[in-house]
Amino acid sequence: VQSTMQDVPLTVTRILEHGSMVHAQSRITTWTGDGAPLRRSFAGTGARAARLAHGLRGLGVGTGDAVGTLMWNNSAHVEAYFAIPSMGAVLHTLNLRLAPEQLAWIVRHAADRVVVVDASLLPLLAPLLPHLDSVEHVIVSGAGDRSVLDGCRARVHDYEELLAAQTDAGYPWPELDERQAAALCYTSGTTGDPKGVVYSHRSVYLHSMEVNSASSFGLKAGETCLPVVPMFHVNAWGLPHAAFMSGASLLLPDRFLQPVPLAEMIESERPSMAAGVPTIWQGLLAELDAKPRDMSSLKVVISGGAPCPPSLMKAFEERHGLRIVQAWGMTETSPLGSMAYPPPGLTAEEEWPYRVTQGRIPASVEARLAGPDGSFLPWDGRSAGELEVRGPWIAGAYHGGADGEPFRPEDKFSPDGWLRTGDVGTITPDGYLTLTDRAKDVIKSGGEWISSVELENHLMAHPEVAEAAVVAVPDEKWGERPLAAVVLRNGSAVEHEALRAFLGDRVARWQLPERWVRVAAVPKTSVGKFDKKALRRQYADGELD
Ligand code: ADP
Repeated sequence: VQSTMQDVPLTVTRILEHGSMVHAQSRITTWTGDGAPLRRSFAGTGARAARLAHGLRGLGVGTGDAVGTLMWNNSAHVEAYFAIPSMGAVLHTLNLRLAPEQLAWIVRHAADRVVVVDASLLPLLAPLLPHLDSVEHVIVSGAGDRSVLDGCRARVHDYEELLAAQTDAGYPWPELDERQAAALCYTSGTTGDPKGVVYSHRSVYLHSMEVNSASSFGLKAGETCLPVVPMFHVNAWGLPHAAFMSGASLLLPDRFLQPVPLAEMIESERPSMAAGVPTIWQGLLAELDAKPRDMSSLKVVISGGAPCPPSLMKAFEERHGLRIVQAWGMTETSPLGSMAYPPPGLTAEEEWPYRVTQGRIPASVEARLAGPDGSFLPWDGRSAGELEVRGPWIAGAYHGGADGEPFRPEDKFSPDGWLRTGDVGTITPDGYLTLTDRAKDVIKSGGEWISSVELENHLMAHPEVAEAAVVAVPDEKWGERPLAAVVLRNGSAVEHEALRAFLGDRVARWQLPERWVRVAAVPKTSVGKFDKKALRRQYADGELD
């Protein structure tokens, strides 16, 4: 018997057309700081995406060409999100917080022919342009001084003028192969050189369906989603695509990612859900503690990208009535890998052990745990190994550069093609994943492993600790020992000895750090995670300041 079903390509174009027609009145609201927010309908966004596609085609952009975006979370960026893949080109979101050399390396590696840039970011881009041979056109969006581009080799265009110059309404979107490249995103390089992950139309489409499922983000028409996570960080976790698929409106923070404007935009625009990394929520919590605001519209706050301290979840819930749900994922996993909703029918107290996990694996993601000897470990909630995953939105290779073939480093992909995540953890028989650490962050002390995350979570539960990061430092006797870098709350003078005693009540004695430093802030990566590589470098010699 043969299947009798149609085989219709799953494309970003389909998502764009559906959103701008069926959910024509859903809105993108972009925060502008002092002025009134900018509001555009999905229908209007679709029409502008068509104009952008015409404009790009006029500049010579063709199938498979990479177009970079160096932009904040705003409606013009959403237009680029849909126009570029739908015309057959490849959207390359550029991380605006990278060091200039790294940014230049990535643009060259991807061979971007055009860069769409927010005017506020020209001081970052302009000095790099002489070193970016592939970039033929720069399209500047938004208000700001453009004189830094005077004399640059690439042709400069104004985004609004380019759109206004197009006379055709609509765009003859081509019929695409669903396996064609749609978007390119480089890992933020927390643990090594950035590597490019190329999402296909199919992977974006299927991932969006999962984001919209009730056991994931569950977006719905009539609701409003606030992606605080930057649109250059794994496609804002797929939320712009998912919104056009479901009809949920978007509230976009543009560059206003600080706690005060975030609190203001939530209070006045009343989103029903928000998504970001834990440091964003840590900052918002401190702001709300200092100045309470009406956050009652938020039904759920998704925290992902780094371990969410349970103390942060508790504080939000007890003091501000906000429910944080933890999610796990990576650039290589599009990123949705798991989400921590507890099973139904439990009391609030019984839900905690589930809510503090990294979450439950969805149907389309297969997971296995590899032990140190390469054998696979049982899902018994106890056996800890390196997490390996596979599925239709999981990377099977990295982008190989201008003309190169995709490459599959052995430490990232198993011989049978599974992604080696570098995350170490356990899985329960009913599919809840708990990560104890990243393989690179785990502290190997005298043949035993100490979880840096566990020590951090305990420390951050201390009332006088604002942030804490624990890293391995070399030790003659033990190989490695933990060093705790602690940020105290304003006005606190709690001694390290007291913190050590606090930890001593919670973990085994041999895990207690001997080395402590008090820091003004934990260094953060370009996407706001604790930068343990920087901390390790700083304290590699065990010297304390
Ligand atoms: P980078 O590796 O450069 O930080 P990613 O954003 O792809 O870039 O990071 C993915 C990694 O972030 C995961 O492999 C994992 O270590 C970490 N991570 C993501 N979500 C969580 C989470 N909920 N809990 C713990 N770690 C997480």
